[in-house]
Amino acid sequence: MLFQAARIQHCRACGSAVEYRVPEDDNRERAVCPACATIHYQNPLNVVGTLPVWGDQVLLCKRNIEPRRGFWTLPAGFMELGETTAGGAERETEEEAGARIEIGALFTLLNVVRVGQVHLFYLATLKDTDFAPGPESMEARLFREDEIPWEDLAFRTTRRTLEHFFEDRRLGRFELHCGDIA
Ligand code: ZN
Repeated sequence: MLFQAARIQHCRACGSAVEYRVPEDDNRERAVCPACATIHYQNPLNVVGTLPVWGDQVLLCKRNIEPRRGFWTLPAGFMELGETTAGGAERETEEEAGARIEIGALFTLLNVVRVGQVHLFYLATLKDTDFAPGPESMEARLFREDEIPWEDLAFRTTRRTLEHFFEDRRLGRFELHCGDIA
């Protein structure tokens, strides 16, 4: 996750090299195929994940893939067609951490405009601590607040979500936080 949306090079319909121009009755540059006239629209992608909690600890995964291999993240990934945001968040938690959760309320909604993504994190309660990290993770483990590897977090949306979590926990209530990552 977290790549700049790649510029389209070739038409997905016929394979010709596309050109970027503003189509008729539009107001933005799009990748337009000069051969078959297909217009390729690119829109932001949703990244969905969870903040899994076990007692006073939270679950993080150490990434085994680029970008940010070796850095820690909350379990999250691109939403797939045919699933809900919560369903995708639960699937990513299972895939990346091998963790079984009870999914809770939506907790953060963060726009990452620079890379064309919206990140949504749900609170979740772990059902047990038998983690089985998938191939995308080197390790999955629990951290207390004073153990969080703040300098080794992979993404700013993970950092922001964890900051809100510990702040809300101190305040004794959890609410939805919406924001933008500049
Ligand atoms: Zn074409």
